[in-house]
Amino acid sequence: MPSRKFADGEVVRGRWPGSSLYYEVEILSHDSNSQLYNVKYKDGTELELKESDIKPLTSFRQRKSGSTSSSPSRRRGSRSRSRSRSPGRLPKGSRRSASASYQADLKEARKEAKKDMLEVKLTPLVLVRVFGSPPASHSEKFHLSQESSYIPTQYSLRARREEIKLKEVDLKEETVVTKRPALLRTSEVTATQSKDLEFGGVPGAFLIMLGLPAFLFLLLLMCKQKEPSLLNFPPPLPALGDLWETRVFGVYLLWFLLQALFHLLPIGKVRLSCFFWNVELYYVYHHFLQFALAAVVFAMGLSVYLYARALKAPQDELSPASSGNAIYDFFIGRELNPRIGTFDLKYFCELRPGLIGWVVINLVMLLAEMKEQNRAAPSLAMILVNSFQLLYVVDALWNEEALLTTMDIIHDGFGFMLAFGDLVWVPFIYSFQAFYLVSHPNELSWPMASLIIALKLCGFVIFRCANSQKNAFRKNPTDPRLAHLKTIHTSTGKNLLVSGWWGFVRHPNYLGDLIMALAWSLPCGFNHILPYFYVIYFTILLVHREARDEHHCRKKYGLAWEKYCQRVPYRIFPYIY
Ligand code: NDP
Repeated sequence: MPSRKFADGEVVRGRWPGSSLYYEVEILSHDSNSQLYNVKYKDGTELELKESDIKPLTSFRQRKSGSTSSSPSRRRGSRSRSRSRSPGRLPKGSRRSASASYQADLKEARKEAKKDMLEVKLTPLVLVRVFGSPPASHSEKFHLSQESSYIPTQYSLRARREEIKLKEVDLKEETVVTKRPALLRTSEVTATQSKDLEFGGVPGAFLIMLGLPAFLFLLLLMCKQKEPSLLNFPPPLPALGDLWETRVFGVYLLWFLLQALFHLLPIGKVRLSCFFWNVELYYVYHHFLQFALAAVVFAMGLSVYLYARALKAPQDELSPASSGNAIYDFFIGRELNPRIGTFDLKYFCELRPGLIGWVVINLVMLLAEMKEQNRAAPSLAMILVNSFQLLYVVDALWNEEALLTTMDIIHDGFGFMLAFGDLVWVPFIYSFQAFYLVSHPNELSWPMASLIIALKLCGFVIFRCANSQKNAFRKNPTDPRLAHLKTIHTSTGKNLLVSGWWGFVRHPNYLGDLIMALAWSLPCGFNHILPYFYVIYFTILLVHREARDEHHCRKKYGLAWEKYCQRVPYRIFPYIY
């Protein structure tokens, strides 16, 4: 039986996950399989800790009263001067004004470090109670100040080598022992393993992975029917052999590699090159289901590759969403931003093959409509769908740097969820209205078309202005063009906008996006619900995404977020939700 160092009931010091702070804890039990101790903090929080994150009480130097890290005034002081880059970094201000007592503390800490101990007083990291009295669960109880959060808020596309150099410079500046990063990683893993999982946890992730590809094919098959009413469900299924053609897979692969080449070429913002004009686009319509299957197979293969390489990735490159569970991590992505050299796989897939593929498929459908319906020109409905969605994609590519602050890049790993979403779901489902129009023509009147155009523009203005306002504010909070906007100060040093678009609802960009989604479906008329699938699905996606973002922001900003919610009570739809 493996030996254990601490006995049940023993009072010791346990490290707070993600920080170098040690608090008094009681050992509740020990799991001999995982070698983890179940410990209880004084406020009632129960966590699992590794033995290396637990120290006997006697190994901590008794501190003078008034200088303890639990003093609220001291906490606040260190928090406001804090920086986010390195969890163990000392407050900048305190480095500059190094007082005699501080230097003495420092010497003391170095001595302590030699004994493989960490000194609480020297870390700027603090725990902040969000709500007054001790609440029930850990996630509601505390919000960790910025240093403790290992969720970065901005992703850098710098080459890893440069990042490592920067980190090394950072570490040299650290005055506290070099052993800390190793310790930090171990407890990060312990912390992620015990956290709540999103998307229904492991069973949810498993079902989504099984269900989504099947659902995609059912939708496409439904749409191919002459009468795509829900009453005609299930649609006739094709023979399995008809779904696969190696040549189609080869064309798909070529498409992906060409996109990668374009991504690597330094051709600035002009990207939608029309190299594909010479390709027989109608071929894609004829083999649409086969292309969808090729994309599914490719996305699955990519997910397997991503998971396999992530097993060797260093702990500090794992996604904050990863859990340690193989199924869940395969789904959500274990590695945060996997790269081959300087080629960032997630960033590339998020923007290029899927989005540009969507535009190409729409064009294919436009040509297919003319051919199938013997038209000299595309229908007004098809032109609207194509131009609305082209505008959306061009806007996304033009403002591509905005991607660097999204949840996809900074929180979720790169696994099945994003690989399937980017490479299959976006091109094959977002082009659904155009696909529908090929075999279900809808003649639009000009007054109706004008109304739809007005709706699309209204959605676009809300979407673009809201996103640009926040991005400009995040880039430069003192931007004179934003001086008229009101803000709420938060303990992380970042402020929240409470007027302008972000004072209207808490996610005005989602509102604009949903209005646009409706405008994309309306040109298909009202005969069937199928072309409205996108609006329904997108509403569910954004409501769920809003809840996830809200959860992260509440953790990040604590009371300031509560205040924001009071000032701006509606999430997406004013006076409704
Ligand atoms: P958002 O652009 O909505 O960003 C959310 C973040 O903004 C928060 O985490 C917070 O981050 C910051 N924030 C929130 N409130 C405020 C405030 N009041 N003042 C300042 N900052 C604030 O994130 P998404 O990635 O979800 O969406 C980006 C765009 O992509 C949206 O327009 C969305 O509609 C679109 N989208 C489209 C999808 C599609 O399939 N077509 C799918 C998903 C999204 P912090 O404070 O750390 O900066």
